[in-house]
Amino acid sequence: MKIHEYQAKAILRNYGVRTPNGDVAATPAKAEAVAKKMVAKGATFPLVVKSQVLVGGRGKAGGIKLAHTIEEVRPLAKQILKMNIKGEIVKQVLIEQGVDIQREIYLGIIVDRARKMPVFMASAAGGVDIEEVAASTPEKILFVPVEPLLGLTDYQVREMAYFVDIPKEGMKDFAGIVKGLYKAFMEKDCSLAEINPLVITGAKEVIAADAKMNFDDNALGRHPDIAEMRDEAEEAPLEREARRLKLNYVKLDGKIGCIVNGAGLAMGTMDIVKHFGGEPANFLDIGGGAKAEQVTDALRLIVSDPKVNTIFFNIFGGIVRCDLVAEGILIALKNLPDWNTPIVIRLSGTNEEKARDMLKGSSLISAATMSEGAKKAVEISNRAA
Ligand code: GDP
Ligand code: MN
Repeated sequence: MKIHEYQAKAILRNYGVRTPNGDVAATPAKAEAVAKKMVAKGATFPLVVKSQVLVGGRGKAGGIKLAHTIEEVRPLAKQILKMNIKGEIVKQVLIEQGVDIQREIYLGIIVDRARKMPVFMASAAGGVDIEEVAASTPEKILFVPVEPLLGLTDYQVREMAYFVDIPKEGMKDFAGIVKGLYKAFMEKDCSLAEINPLVITGAKEVIAADAKMNFDDNALGRHPDIAEMRDEAEEAPLEREARRLKLNYVKLDGKIGCIVNGAGLAMGTMDIVKHFGGEPANFLDIGGGAKAEQVTDALRLIVSDPKVNTIFFNIFGGIVRCDLVAEGILIALKNLPDWNTPIVIRLSGTNEEKARDMLKGSSLISAATMSEGAKKAVEISNRAA
């Protein structure tokens, strides 16, 4: 799960990371009011007006502007609040004290699956897309793996500080920020926490001018405060609907909708569809129960993806009985009267014969094995395309 910059900054402030003062606004009038209040409290121009969207590259897209007078705040906010940045409509702007940028540093931490531990990345080439730096000049990034049992050590912090050439006046602040970022990352179960740019100001202060935090969805159960920050409007619509239906669904780009019981079998199903030259439209695990209601929900969800032209049911009856799944499918098809997407089905395991009998006479195309089912689904999908 992703959160907005202003939310990430609020979290990081609690961990001692210095950020510019500011507040969010959803209308141009509110933006002006926020700016006036800030100025009354001692903020100076320029102020920055920043679009709050969950995609990166807002600066390049024109979603970040400087206001040099109070009169400029309202029209800038009005302009930014209308913007569509990479498909996301701006609903809020963050008004912040502008910072006197002398240098822009990149500082981030991610979970590195290959190393099986968190890894810091630091670069003096901050402010720009770090993926670009990694691709064209990887030597400009220092990677520092942190052994979680030892924690972040002072020498690692110093190694990063030297690599990005922190001025000695800023050393203490920088160390505090790196440690705060690490602590926040660990305690909040992040998959990524990033400050880009971390700014060195003319007065040699070190300030987080941007912040990004992504969280491990599977850990949100222990962070209700963070789960609450979810911005529903910015999820893929089908995934949002799936979460509401409690279906374990990931949207992909292919044409073959897969409905499977069990996550391992669902992974295997996507592999075998690909093996026979097809492209799965999704990962979907309908779970062990697979009652009529779940099957109906799953079918509805999958056909609401306009790309899907074939459905492949792959059910293994271990705990679940195949006849119950067949019943679910028949009820689901009755619930969806103008159905015309072909369905290939492989049912094996407990009560499979009974299930096959029940499906005789329906329009379902049955397959005896997983390979046969995948092959048929791919053929039908390719013919329809
Ligand atoms: P992103 O493009 O979505 O990553 O948004 P950032 O918050 O990183 O801002 C992009 C760029 O805008 C930064 O790298 C800076 O160059 C510039 N910027 C952001 N805040 C300020 C500010 O307070 N003052 C000035 N002069 N530039 C800023
Ligand atoms: Mn940034």
